[in-house]
Amino acid sequence: MISRSIFWFRRDLRLSDNPALLNAIANSQEILPLFIMDNEIANRAGSHRRAYLAASLRALNGSLGGSLHVISGDPVAILRSLISKYDISQIHVASEFAPYGVARDKRVVESGIELIRTGSPYAIAPGRVVKSDGTPYRVYTPFFRAWTSHGWRTPVAAPQNIKAIAPGKSEQRLPDWDIASELDLPPAGEESAQKRWRDFQTNGLDNYDQARNFPGVDGTSRMGHHLRWGEIHPRTILDSLGGSPAHEVYRKEIAWREFYADVLYHNPHTSRDYYSKRFAGMRYESPDGKFLAWCEGKTGFPFVDAAMRQLVETGWMHNRLRMVVASFLVKDLHIEWHHGANFFMKYLIDNDVASNSHGWQWTAGCGTDASPYFRIFNPVEQGRKFDPEGDYIRKYIPELGHLSAKYIHEPWQDPAGNRNSYPDRIVDHTVERLESLARLAEIKVVTPES
Ligand SMILES: Cc1cc2nc3c(=O)[nH]c(=O)nc-3n(C[C@H](O)[C@H](O)[C@H](O)COP(=O)(O)OP(=O)(O)OC[C@H]3O[C@@H](n4cnc5c(N)ncnc54)[C@H](O)[C@@H]3O)c2cc1C
Repeated sequence: MISRSIFWFRRDLRLSDNPALLNAIANSQEILPLFIMDNEIANRAGSHRRAYLAASLRALNGSLGGSLHVISGDPVAILRSLISKYDISQIHVASEFAPYGVARDKRVVESGIELIRTGSPYAIAPGRVVKSDGTPYRVYTPFFRAWTSHGWRTPVAAPQNIKAIAPGKSEQRLPDWDIASELDLPPAGEESAQKRWRDFQTNGLDNYDQARNFPGVDGTSRMGHHLRWGEIHPRTILDSLGGSPAHEVYRKEIAWREFYADVLYHNPHTSRDYYSKRFAGMRYESPDGKFLAWCEGKTGFPFVDAAMRQLVETGWMHNRLRMVVASFLVKDLHIEWHHGANFFMKYLIDNDVASNSHGWQWTAGCGTDASPYFRIFNPVEQGRKFDPEGDYIRKYIPELGHLSAKYIHEPWQDPAGNRNSYPDRIVDHTVERLESLARLAEIKVVTPES
């Protein structure tokens, strides 16, 4: 009898450097490559995320010679039915560590289905790097040191030969989600991930430490969405880094991704709740018209608005601006971080619950090893420093195209600033900064630090 295994793709939509896939192939004569479309997640995603996932699945199906099974519904029911239909003896996966995936896999295992787990979406699986007393790290720098000295495996090659079961009728429902023609998404799939990484190595990596803070410059790798869907493994990326300062800075950024995954693994509630509990007791405003202005890129602060418009138009935002707009929402509008995090999760194609929730909590001052709350970004000064000529702003806010570098960050200082119906400032930053500090003082007095 032929032995058959399911290989269940989740956050690893690639063939190369995929030890779990190699394990499935080594242990069976035929594999059934499977992606289960989770309707709960798909319904929550915005059109960018859905379109990107659809494109990535199409690419994966292409590299599997058309054998990818794509089925929507409950994982337990789908796995049970495939096991009995194809006489499956093993199910192989890479381990999941974020709360939703952990709960889903637990339910599968509790239903009596065994999952054979190999590897993870990280260079080092969350939970593995711990302090000498066995407790998890709460601070990034010592985590980075321990993570580096722990080390990781070298990448493995793609399988030479995959003998895969062809999908039956109704077993390949590749989603036809497409994007509106005005949206401009990056190409998806393993080949595109490898190409982008090669291009960045040639054209950007050596200058990464200098260029990474300027949103108007193509100075970052744009690997986030490829890593999110596992179109490339971080080990493959780390393996090609050298020892120069620029490479070291890049390695540190990959380590932030691993640190936040580790923090979330140990504190699963922090995907939605405050890491530092006392911040839950702060006075906040309900999301109202000002929140809507933030979402639509109509706050009257050009650096903030350009970023929010870029997010909605392209599904991506530069790291510098993620910090600026997050600080603006929490500290200028006094709105709780999770409202912003949810909006990001809808649009970002690199959406990652660990990096997103903890990126927000870092900026809001309530995360682990966070930026202190009293560090409040000035949206005008940030624009002057990181987009000095205003070219990035002009790209996303054509209404400000007539303004010079001197006024583009503060259109209200120029009588013609709002000529093309660009909105007035919805708040005064100087006033709101003080208000924020006053609210911080209140929780300092009444609530002890958690
Ligand atoms: C409020 C906020 C929300 C964020 N939400 C997400 C998210 O949903 N998904 C996500 O992948 N990143 C998130 N980040 C981190 C960071 O902004 C993005 O990883 C980065 O902008 C992606 O672009 P890039 O691939 O060109 O980054 P590069 O600068 O080229 O960095 C390379 C890779 O390192 C990792 N990385 C870089 N910076 C960080 C960081 N601060 N935290 C964690 N990983 C990092 C990412 O995997 C990134 O792709 C968030 C940051 C903030 C402040």
